[in-house]
Amino acid sequence: MTTASRKSWGPSTLAVHAGNGPDPATGAVMTPIYATSTFVQSAPGVTTGWEYARSGNPTRADFERALADVEGGSAGFAFASGLAAEATVLDLLAHGSHVITSQGLYGGTWRLLHRVRNHSANLSVTHVDASDASDPAALEAALTPRTAMVWVETPGNPLLDIVDLDAIAAFARGHGLLSVVDNTFASPAVQRPLEHGVDIVVHSATKYIGGHSDIIAGAVVVGDNAELATRLGFLQNAVGAVLDPFQSFLARRGLLTLPLRIERHAANALKVARFLDTHPRIERVLYPGLQNHPGHSLAMRQMANGGGMVAAFLKGDATAVASFLQRLRLFRLAESLGGVESLVGQPWTMSHGSVAEEHRLAIGITPQLVRLSVGIEDADDLIADLDAALG
Ligand SMILES: *Cc1c(COP(=O)(O)O)cnc(C)c1O
Repeated sequence: MTTASRKSWGPSTLAVHAGNGPDPATGAVMTPIYATSTFVQSAPGVTTGWEYARSGNPTRADFERALADVEGGSAGFAFASGLAAEATVLDLLAHGSHVITSQGLYGGTWRLLHRVRNHSANLSVTHVDASDASDPAALEAALTPRTAMVWVETPGNPLLDIVDLDAIAAFARGHGLLSVVDNTFASPAVQRPLEHGVDIVVHSATKYIGGHSDIIAGAVVVGDNAELATRLGFLQNAVGAVLDPFQSFLARRGLLTLPLRIERHAANALKVARFLDTHPRIERVLYPGLQNHPGHSLAMRQMANGGGMVAAFLKGDATAVASFLQRLRLFRLAESLGGVESLVGQPWTMSHGSVAEEHRLAIGITPQLVRLSVGIEDADDLIADLDAALG
């Protein structure tokens, strides 16, 4: 199957038919789980194309190819977790580099930058807020002679702020920097940053791509840049935080239904956001699909829909928030997002608990903030659950 025909396919066709196709050895329609650490050579150095399973495994390769196709990229790399993928991307940087990031970052990314790479790689970081991250002048003000990368999350975590992908890609190109977008919250069924000229997309495939809350996995996809793909392939093998074949199989299986699931996630999230928006116990709702979201028009330009994540500030003190969270029956109180089941979290104590308190407050994360990952259940049941818990 040629690249040309793939390019003309829509995301749902790609999700099903992308990848390496039926297993060449057996004709199995679904690529089997190749549970092997190594592959026989017929003579020294004469291989089947597979050598040692850290360097490459057919099950992992099928997921990597399929995800790259769905993201509109040239090459994909699967990792043991989203953070392992991020750490390997940061290994592209020389010691002492500087990174500009958007402010709305996953707590674990924050921790990796500030509490690991600061110490081990002398990495320094400047965070700019979402409107600044879309503004070339504000980005330029953050440049230093050591700046080598721009890293953004959009929609941002946990406030769902939107960064302009065209602006980020153009800024990075103009200054010879690598641009990285964490596309976990949107997924490639909602937005494809590489098509905007971004260099690298990273994913926690634990979330929407896996989609069933049953794996931990990460991925990196690069655009049309063979040199960058080679460097990432080298690092994936040299650092070795690869995804195993069992998880690769589940990640590939999740990807099959990604566009279908996302349609329901987004439709439900919009209904939930509208319901919360008018509820007297809610101070403010943040959902990119609602017109009152500050990034709404930008979101509608670069996203197919508002996605499945909704944030809301509750009225009342921390005790009232805790009792709301405990009264929910369908929205389970748990870390993570992007699975078929609805989840709710309090970023203050959960996803962003590892971010310094003064920074949490400075960027607007308070104990009153709750983050909903709206699942694929019946919207009426989800709304009734929220209504009863707010009661
Ligand atoms: C969960 C998450 C990560 C980290 O991924 P893991 O698979 O948990 O290691 C990174 N970025 C975002 C936006 C996430 O939600």
